[in-house]
Amino acid sequence: MKQYDFLIVGAGLYGSVFSHLATKRGKKCLVIDKRNHAGGNIYCENIDGINVHKYGAHIFHTSDKEVWDFVNSIVPFNRYTNSPVAQAPDGNLYNLPFNMNTFYQMWGVKTPEEAHAKLEEQRKEAISKMRVAGVTEPQNLEEQALALIGKDIYHQLIKGYTEKQWGRKCTELPAFIIRRLPVRLTFDNNYFNDSYQGIPIGGYNKLIDGLLEGSDVMLETDFFENRDKWRCMAEQIVFTGKIDEYYDYRFGKLEYRTVRFETETLDSPNWQGNAVVNYTSADVPFTRIIEHKHFETFGNAVYDNPLTVISREYSTEWTDGMEPFYPVNDARNQEVYAKYKELADHEVNVIFGGRLAEYKYYDMAPIISQVLKLFR
Ligand code: UDP
Repeated sequence: MKQYDFLIVGAGLYGSVFSHLATKRGKKCLVIDKRNHAGGNIYCENIDGINVHKYGAHIFHTSDKEVWDFVNSIVPFNRYTNSPVAQAPDGNLYNLPFNMNTFYQMWGVKTPEEAHAKLEEQRKEAISKMRVAGVTEPQNLEEQALALIGKDIYHQLIKGYTEKQWGRKCTELPAFIIRRLPVRLTFDNNYFNDSYQGIPIGGYNKLIDGLLEGSDVMLETDFFENRDKWRCMAEQIVFTGKIDEYYDYRFGKLEYRTVRFETETLDSPNWQGNAVVNYTSADVPFTRIIEHKHFETFGNAVYDNPLTVISREYSTEWTDGMEPFYPVNDARNQEVYAKYKELADHEVNVIFGGRLAEYKYYDMAPIISQVLKLFR
């Protein structure tokens, strides 16, 4: 008999949800994490009375009622609705995602019919150029964006931002990344199409603390420093770290993008008037500025705190010692990942899950849905 049923490597969302559900079923779980806090990249730090998303803005959104009810059973969520604005190279501000407000700002079109005609004109131009080049299906992000939304929006709102975020040319990125963004012919600035969205009231740490209640948690504890010891402690391992590291990089390193933050407190109650402002020009070094208080305070309540905290986000290539954020799902990395996955599929008593172990660009809700499914 081992001391624990599950050793969970990584106290991020996947690990915490797993531990919660297993504990509820009477299993004994030990969660270890090398960082000095739980929560993985959804962890927040309270600075000047404001919950600061230390590893980038996290906005919970889903259409899955089971997932929504599940998270709300841990902590109630507020009514935050993500509606970023973009500061473009032409100097203008545009609403995101691409909707009637954006089309009005870009082309002066006032009705869905006018916008549709303009979009069609731009799409047709892009598609016929691709045909001439012998392309029938968009093969990369640039072709996908041009076929979806046309050259004006591509150049003002997509190209610079995407190339900064990924550190790669749009022609070298997979098309699916841009399909995440909705295109709508309504005056609706809600970034997501989902039925439910919000931020946990009191911050994400409340969600993580609630999920980890009843589990044993050890922080600043690195699985790789003593794998054998950890293996002996539990019947099964749930591994949520980097899959390539688990296999000692034997097929080579997977690449990640990561984000460096410059966070500062400003002597202003309301500095940019929105939680998220994207900077889509290649000439501005950061990708966006987050003003954290807007995730949790609305309307004039933002003036209750005379200070604000902002973070500039600089996207960089991941190197050892940094926290990896985004898997780079291009062809080369997918090939390497497939080799690791093959090994993982044959592993007994180890479950691989989450963004890093599955090398997948997961949002929060699909992670939860995945774990709920596993337990069903
Ligand atoms: N994107 C863009 N311009 C923007 C915002 C997003 O071109 O102003 C593109 C970019 O390619 C990005 C993708 O849309 O990688 C997905 O954006 P999302 O906001 O979903 O990224 P995340 O919030 O996960 O960083």
